[in-house]
Amino acid sequence: MSHDIACRLHAAHDLRIEPLADPQPQPGAALVRVLRGGICGSDLHYYHDGGFGPVRVRQPIVLGHEAAGVVESAPEGSGLVAGQLVALSPSRPCGDCDYCRAGQERHCLNMRFSGSAMRLPHEDGFFRNRLYHPLDQCLPLPDGADAQAAAGAEPLAVCLHALGMAPDLSGQRVLITGAGPIGAICTALARLRGAAQIVVTDVQDFTLGIARRMGADRAVNVAEDADALADLAQGKGQIDLVLECSANPHAIAQAITLARPQATMVQIGVGGTLPLPLNLIVAKELRLVGTHRFDREFAQAVAMIGAGQIDLSPMVTQVLPAAQAQRAFDLAGDRAQAVKVQLDFGA
Ligand SMILES: [Zn+2]
Repeated sequence: MSHDIACRLHAAHDLRIEPLADPQPQPGAALVRVLRGGICGSDLHYYHDGGFGPVRVRQPIVLGHEAAGVVESAPEGSGLVAGQLVALSPSRPCGDCDYCRAGQERHCLNMRFSGSAMRLPHEDGFFRNRLYHPLDQCLPLPDGADAQAAAGAEPLAVCLHALGMAPDLSGQRVLITGAGPIGAICTALARLRGAAQIVVTDVQDFTLGIARRMGADRAVNVAEDADALADLAQGKGQIDLVLECSANPHAIAQAITLARPQATMVQIGVGGTLPLPLNLIVAKELRLVGTHRFDREFAQAVAMIGAGQIDLSPMVTQVLPAAQAQRAFDLAGDRAQAVKVQLDFGA
């Protein structure tokens, strides 16, 4: 009798820990025992609101799209062996549509994304003890890497893709709005890429403290001190690059005020319809660029983590046993005390 569990969301605020049936073998897939899963903002939207925008939870769904685990079994010759630590990529493009053929798999028309309620039937995610996962979506890490770090591959891939939308960061003055997990990882990446100054804004001292540990030079609570960034507004603005991770209209407006002419703003935070100061965007000739998920950056993220090139550990603020998923979700939504909360499926 197995004690395997799944964290399945039935409706908003109805997250249940349920026994997990033995996973059904699938061709071209490895059986993976999940060790760690990170709770993401979109998981929280499903949990609190039953979805976001037009995406609604219409049937029970196993949440989770950030995870790492160990291979229990894999087909011979697959390159994966039992006991190997792997990061799981949640992204399964069809490989056949116009976007896939153009090398833009992230825009795939038939995307199956683990833990996403976008399509029917919903695609079950990683918050379960065991699953079969396609071989090419199980990326091995070298010996000595740990599951906590490996579970950070997905958000790191998101940030690598976002930085790919920006000019070279070397010597640049960078503003990062929003010190959640994505803002924290962007901070660490901006440091690695040679940014001259990294300014992070948020409205929570706790998350700003994490941003400092991830490499921020200045971490400013804009709710407490609205004028703290006045020096960066000098002239027409002093910021070369904005990485917008909050989707908050006040933060966006401030970022646009601080941006120098011809600066780039990469919009990473996701929101609905917001007012924007178009006069400033036009007058300063700003480049406003969206960014969506990742493609090859997932493998790049795994390689960076495997080589110890980036330390994401400061942002993992809590690790809870998977059986306490409801508590973990409540905690993850409390930005006064959490940045990234992970579920421990090995506990
Ligand atoms: Zn496709």
